[in-house]
Amino acid sequence: MKISSTYFNNYPKGNLYAAGKIYNSGIDYNLQLNYLKDYQCDSVSFKRIPDTTFINDLRELPNLTCGCCGIKMLKNSVVNDFLNRKIYYPASIALKRIKSENYFNESHASDEMKTAYAFLKNFADRNPKLTMQDILAKKAVKAKRQTFPKEVSAACETIRDMTKLVAHNSKYMIDEISKLNPKFHKTEKKVFKELQMLAKEYPQETFYDILNKSEVNKYYLTRLQKKQIDILDNVVGAVEDAPENIKTMVLDVTEKARDIFEKESVEILHKRGRVISHYQSLLNDYKDDSCVQKVLEIINELPDSKTDSDAFLIKGAQKSSNAIVEILLSRVRSTFEHVKPHKREGDNGPSNIFNYIALCGKCNSERQRTGYDIFTKAHPEMIENEQIQINKIIHFINHGILAGYDEYPVKIKKALDIESKGAIKININKLNLLQAKNNRKLRQKKIIEKKKSLNGSKAIYKFGKGLFKRNVMGKNDK
Ligand SMILES: [Zn+2]
Repeated sequence: MKISSTYFNNYPKGNLYAAGKIYNSGIDYNLQLNYLKDYQCDSVSFKRIPDTTFINDLRELPNLTCGCCGIKMLKNSVVNDFLNRKIYYPASIALKRIKSENYFNESHASDEMKTAYAFLKNFADRNPKLTMQDILAKKAVKAKRQTFPKEVSAACETIRDMTKLVAHNSKYMIDEISKLNPKFHKTEKKVFKELQMLAKEYPQETFYDILNKSEVNKYYLTRLQKKQIDILDNVVGAVEDAPENIKTMVLDVTEKARDIFEKESVEILHKRGRVISHYQSLLNDYKDDSCVQKVLEIINELPDSKTDSDAFLIKGAQKSSNAIVEILLSRVRSTFEHVKPHKREGDNGPSNIFNYIALCGKCNSERQRTGYDIFTKAHPEMIENEQIQINKIIHFINHGILAGYDEYPVKIKKALDIESKGAIKININKLNLLQAKNNRKLRQKKIIEKKKSLNGSKAIYKFGKGLFKRNVMGKNDK
């Protein structure tokens, strides 16, 4: 098979780098080729592949599990590639569709919008596989945009946002996500199941159109409202024996909460947040009362889009179809977690590898700036799962696959110990830096030999469209 130069050129820098890294890492040559084959590549250009034979990003380690919940995460580059190759339309198509779907109405558009559209279309037509994001990341496009009046430059972004709304139908989306086979958390599993059922019923329509059908919206809203009202009823039950003044206050704010949930338009956001803060501010002076504590506990159980599939789908109706897929995948993708939080007042944790562990998007967003001493009380599984993750990292260091991380185990052990006030004690006894060094040398040698043998016997040179292309694999190499 051939590996495409367009493949690498098709990607914004980050993805290009990741793709090159996968190609070059040499962990399992066939695996890499399969990876590229999945994306239907046909030839390769070597000129933009970074000069590395190793993985040097935690988020790219295969089968890494979350350091908190232990779920098997999706590699960062896999999610990016999936969104770019499978979910977003190429700009050349998206630009046509924003017209046919009436997001962009030429007869009413301003001159700036028309200029921006023509400019982007010109690039898109010449690079028919690139997404709008890729086009805007192109050097030539950036340079040209700087010469435009700022209204035209801003119009380019408006058009980009419009192209984000162009989406595949629900059947296609469900099929593609299923192929990626992400190990979703409980809530996302339920969301996915609901979307799957909806896609069966309305296969040709987009998630956005389906979730905005009045019968669909009403179905999820009724279910959500029932859960909300049940919780308000529980609050009323909890203050039955409370002192009269507290009881009156709680009943009063509960009536307001009922109105917010039942009477306010579905489009008004942050209802849950508002209701909770009403209770909190009103009851702030009575925090020591056991009834008040119970009320605040109950009210915190109000469903939200992170913990409840009905709430997710109601909120999702206000987002684009593509954004729904992004959110679902973001919850299981591998992300950098700052051990010492990045934005803690007066005490900023640095953004470098020695302050990073890998958490899934869901756990990462839940942790925020909480100290691990407190966080591990709510998530005791983190203590074991972080050790499992470090074991895996040490394995990849020892085998010479993960490079640039020799000091990582010692430093991260210390960082975790400090941030958790001793709750997370990591064992790094299996680290063997001598073995790591030897394995790295071996790997480098093997890869050089492999490249040499490919260059010697199999390389077929050809010139096409001014690009230097090379057929790297013969038939018998598979
Ligand atoms: Zn997690």
